[in-house]
Amino acid sequence: MKQSRYLLPTLKETPNDVVLPSHALMLRAGLIRKTGSGFYTYLPFGLKALKKVEKIIREEMNKIGGQEFLFPLLINRELWDKTGRWATFRGELFRLKDRGENEYALGPTHEESFTDFFKQEISSYKQLPLLLYQIATKFRDEIRPRYGVMRSKEFLMKDAYSFHLNDASLDEMYRLMIKAYSNIFKHLGLDFVSVRADSGAMGGSGSEEFMVKSSVGEETLIHCGKCGYGANIETAEEKIIPHNEHFEIAKDKYKDDLLTLTKNEQDGWVFSRHEKENFDVEKKHHLVHTPDTENISVVAEALGVPESAFIKCLLYEIKNEVDGSVLNIMLLLRADYQVNSIKLQNLFPNSTIDFMSEEKMKKHGYAPGYVSPFYFLEDDSSDFNQITQFEYYIDESLKTGKHFITGNNHPLEHLEVSDFEEFKTGIKFKNCSVYEAKEGGACLECGGKLDFSKGIEVGHIFKLGRKYTEAFQSTVLDEEGKSQLPTMGCYGIGINRTLAAIVEQYHDDHGIKWPQSVAPFDIHLITLNIKDEASMLFSKELYENLSSEGLEVLWDERDQRAGFKFKDADLLGLPIQVIVGPKNLAAGEVEIKFRNKQPEEKTVIATKDIFLNLKKLIGIDE
Ligand code: ATP
Ligand code: MG
Repeated sequence: MKQSRYLLPTLKETPNDVVLPSHALMLRAGLIRKTGSGFYTYLPFGLKALKKVEKIIREEMNKIGGQEFLFPLLINRELWDKTGRWATFRGELFRLKDRGENEYALGPTHEESFTDFFKQEISSYKQLPLLLYQIATKFRDEIRPRYGVMRSKEFLMKDAYSFHLNDASLDEMYRLMIKAYSNIFKHLGLDFVSVRADSGAMGGSGSEEFMVKSSVGEETLIHCGKCGYGANIETAEEKIIPHNEHFEIAKDKYKDDLLTLTKNEQDGWVFSRHEKENFDVEKKHHLVHTPDTENISVVAEALGVPESAFIKCLLYEIKNEVDGSVLNIMLLLRADYQVNSIKLQNLFPNSTIDFMSEEKMKKHGYAPGYVSPFYFLEDDSSDFNQITQFEYYIDESLKTGKHFITGNNHPLEHLEVSDFEEFKTGIKFKNCSVYEAKEGGACLECGGKLDFSKGIEVGHIFKLGRKYTEAFQSTVLDEEGKSQLPTMGCYGIGINRTLAAIVEQYHDDHGIKWPQSVAPFDIHLITLNIKDEASMLFSKELYENLSSEGLEVLWDERDQRAGFKFKDADLLGLPIQVIVGPKNLAAGEVEIKFRNKQPEEKTVIATKDIFLNLKKLIGIDE
């Protein structure tokens, strides 16, 4: 391709509001242009790279028996009603109507489409296992489209779906897929890891994400340097180290009130308080005076007790989006941990989860900032029944001891309980695990130290199970002629995001440094002075010879200064620059610059050997 005729508009400056290097370089090197908020046009140079990524993915899918499809992007609402996802996919789903008022989704993922196809066409176990895939556009109304094509509203995905008679067959495919994904990302030159992940809106059991390591990644990866355990923060667990149960609160912090815990047949265990009666510090539960303390860390400091000795009580309002019902929950967590929102969401699928407003807390009898799982009977008029409208959850982080401090539902006071287990008997707690693993925490598998890093999610694979085949009643007949629901897997790779991740990993201050496997062209032939006849003659012949060998050559034969051409060439980042200049040529030589080598290398090659040498170089790099 002659560069003078090629629509490859490069930009000197990074456009405003662009923060990621890959985003800036994809714009500057003329790969993409922004067309709207969260959608982009690919220009020829960008499209060539994108197609190479696609090709590598397609080859690996075909190698493990994948069969390529192309489903419509429009999906009838009925298909998504069958699985309930029309209601539950919520904000991200683009919905539209035709002139006859029929409703459609613009496919954000295609489980329903493939499962429906399966139902129509596949009837016997003999046809299984099946691996079907497509490389097609997906639409998602992302809340915050950003970072260019990394998170856009319209993007290309390779999505594959497999169907199996039994779990063993699915496991086998899953293993093959992990291998295929590793081959793909290796071939693309990416430094990646695979980690355990959450299965999110897809449902199902096993799930792994493929992450490209990058400081600009949106995902937090947890990794144990000792045993290799790797997980996304959304699923990561750690060995919870018991807190120091032997803490002591200075006696002058105690309030001289006496608490009595009594069991009331109707309401369970409740406290009542008697002022200044037989105050005894050795009792099991004490009121602690904690004035002017607005959060747990301040209280902890004031009492000289670590935060891990506190119980955090969080109140949420959970609205089920399918039936509209609202549930109030109280969640108890050790105060040195945070709730991971994805883990919490998985406890309440298809729901919107909000913190309870202060107004509502008060209505339910809770003092904002001092919420306690233990209810006090302040006086006989208290409406205890209000409180029983809650469901109670206790996080795994609290399983490590008994002696804790918590709010007491009364401003300026906390409650010290020496046997949390005993008090818990009054309330029916459901166990859960929603804590977020902490950097430096202990690995659950081996006790090693957990490291945190950032990654870009480029691929995600799931064992879906029978959720979709069941919803569609997509059955097959087994060996005995009995109807069976096949189990499924689904496997995605974001193609544009992968391309952006490649640019993120392969660039320097001057531009992109393409790995050979996805470089839009193999060679950048740069003729420094097009007025020099010998240079032009030599370049033209080399260009034609290389092209006739099937090599892709971008020939810069523009009437521009050498400095300008060099800058552009470094920005475009093709792996091999062949620089034809009058001086070198007169000496029988051509300069070669390896843009993708680390560090960059320059060399001169005799003109008579250049053709063969270049072919060799490309062949070796392949
Ligand atoms: P994320 O957590 O980043 O939103 P996801 O879990 O929603 O991703 P999947 O539904 O598993 O993503 O989709 C498969 C792949 O599609 C992802 O691994 C990612 O590479 C790509 N992808 C998802 N959303 C986008 C998007 N908005 N823009 C570009 N690529 C995307
Ligand atoms: Mg998403």
